Amino acid sequence: MARVLFITNNKEKAELVQDVLCKNALEVEVVLEEVIIFDKIMAFFPDLILLDVSFNTQDITLLAKKIKIHTQTDNVIFSLLVPQDCDNQDLLKTATSYITEPLNEKILISTIMSAIRMKNSLDVLSRNNADLAKSLYQLDVLYNTSTQFAGSLDREKLINIMLEGLEKSLSFNLSYILLFNNDNDIKLIVNSLHPLSERFEQAIKLRAMISYKSLFDKKQMPYAINPDIISVEKRIKHPYVEYDLPVLNFDNMFAPVTIGEKFFGVIEVFREEEFKSEDATCFQTLSKQVSIPLETATLYDEIKQTNIKLENLEKMKSEFISIVSHELRTPLTAIKNSLGILKGGAAGETTAVMDKFLGLAERNVLRLKGIINDLLDLSKIEAGKMKYSFEKADIMSPVETVKTTLENLMKEKNIVFSLNYDENLPQVFIDTMRIEQVVMNLLSNAIKFTPENGEIKLCVSKMSGSQIDRSDAVDDREYIVVLVEDSGIGIEKENLEKVFDKFQQIESSLSRKIGGTGLGLPIAKQLVDAHKGLIWVESAINKGSKFYFAIPVLSDLEAFKAGLEKQIAVAKSNCYTLGVIKISERMDNSTVFLNDIVSGLINIVRKGVNVKEYIVNENNFKTIYYTVMQMDRFALNFVGKKIDGFVKTEPRYEKCDILFSTVLYPDDEVTVDGLIEKLDNDIIEVKL
Ligand code: ADP
Repeated sequence: MARVLFITNNKEKAELVQDVLCKNALEVEVVLEEVIIFDKIMAFFPDLILLDVSFNTQDITLLAKKIKIHTQTDNVIFSLLVPQDCDNQDLLKTATSYITEPLNEKILISTIMSAIRMKNSLDVLSRNNADLAKSLYQLDVLYNTSTQFAGSLDREKLINIMLEGLEKSLSFNLSYILLFNNDNDIKLIVNSLHPLSERFEQAIKLRAMISYKSLFDKKQMPYAINPDIISVEKRIKHPYVEYDLPVLNFDNMFAPVTIGEKFFGVIEVFREEEFKSEDATCFQTLSKQVSIPLETATLYDEIKQTNIKLENLEKMKSEFISIVSHELRTPLTAIKNSLGILKGGAAGETTAVMDKFLGLAERNVLRLKGIINDLLDLSKIEAGKMKYSFEKADIMSPVETVKTTLENLMKEKNIVFSLNYDENLPQVFIDTMRIEQVVMNLLSNAIKFTPENGEIKLCVSKMSGSQIDRSDAVDDREYIVVLVEDSGIGIEKENLEKVFDKFQQIESSLSRKIGGTGLGLPIAKQLVDAHKGLIWVESAINKGSKFYFAIPVLSDLEAFKAGLEKQIAVAKSNCYTLGVIKISERMDNSTVFLNDIVSGLINIVRKGVNVKEYIVNENNFKTIYYTVMQMDRFALNFVGKKIDGFVKTEPRYEKCDILFSTVLYPDDEVTVDGLIEKLDNDIIEVKL
């Protein structure tokens, strides 16, 4: 029943209005005194207020304005009862409608009824608007939440994003989510406005379990459930008041968090205010939406775990190989020595047959030793424990050594061998022993896979990256390229890349006859990689193979940087300090021997430690960098002071241009560039 509040001092008018409106099923209240107007409005909740403008008050327009303001927000219709000649525009503007005197029953009732209809329409409109605003808000929350889902692969974080989304869009009083990671990892997360009483917490736990079980009815449950292993996490918003069992009577919604066969958990929310259908849609959407990223996160977790397992297995395998190889090496050395003694006749005369078998045994011991060394090398490289000793060197030196070593073997097979190399090859920054190993592996393979009377060519040349037909070659960099070409059995196209993988032996009938571990090329590749070089193969079956490797030619400074980088890695892994000393002298300082003095001084302060020298000739200056492992600040200062003394007191340095600086890793700088920059800028002795 619509309610009308009539404000008037005139009892006759009041009676008339009351009479007419009550007859038309309207509830009417009359206010005769000004002081109670606003209390009445608050208590009566009128749908329409009719103000008699003849009401006895100081300023009727002001009163009308006040009433209007008071009622505006609730869609209350404000009407005026005015005399026919009223032309107070200010007053008339305050109302939605007005009725003129004298009061006519029909006009009164039709005006009031149409105003009430208007009020009802306004109410519906307001409600729709509010619902629309809420839906828009929920949509916004859904959108934001799903965007956040996309950015995470962490299960815990995903659940939190969902709970936050639900809380924002549904403003619930309490929610729980029962999450299953596995049979032994079940978590109950309770989000509540207020703390829970102990029995209520137990009730929630029980309810979560029952809800979970109810999902599967008589079917097999994906996870066994035992209340004792459920870990409870409570997130309480406000510490005051305590929630108890009656909260279970609040309106509630429940959903499984699942995707296809995969089941993650169950979620339930409770709210004092009833949930609407839009709330249910929002709840269902969010609980479904979270399943997809949850599945991705689970897969990601599984992959991560598998990777860790694989890494561990790989580590264990490397360690195993390393231990076994070490263990094999000792008895093998004993066997080798014993064979040497027997062959040498120290244990008595040997017959020709015995010699033959002793020779066979010795060759096999050597082969076994080679295999063990290969295994050890590879496990060392893989564990990052391979030690390199880089220096500026001539590439022809290891190449020549290998040639000399294998020459006889080639002669035995009647192989035609040639070695060609460019004149004036620049020096390269290499570990000579390791490069020798690479050439040895390639050349011994060539011999192994080339039939008797075949041909092997070894070529060493300088090439620019642009001349090398490989995408990983740097165009404007120079390389020394070593090519081992044979006329042997060749390798099939699909196997070309595989040959550098561990334990790969290409199953061709000939190679199966030929022994080997499949470790030579992987080792060669790793060693070339350590030189920042390239290794590749071209081959045609039954025609022969071309194995190439290319070592970049570094400038003096680049070579120093590369060396320093490796030294830093060693210092870092051993927690050592690394002193770096730089001394530059103009090239024409013919009488200066400061470099000798510096190395002498280093020898005094750090005798026997690992000192490396890098000579850099640039801009008419000859610079020597010394890297000294485990050098401390005190020793560095000592060298600095001595140099200062020499330069100042020795007359022969009077006209010389000298720059001197030192730096300490990790105290001063930790990066190669940082260390070099500091050496360039913080010169402690200048004499120019
Ligand atoms: P191993 O020679 O000890 O088996 P490698 O790693 O040196 O191991 O070589 C791997 C495989 O690559 C060889 O088993 C062989 O099948 C193939 N291969 C290597 N070098 C040649 C070559 N010059 N000609 C033909 N096949 C080769």
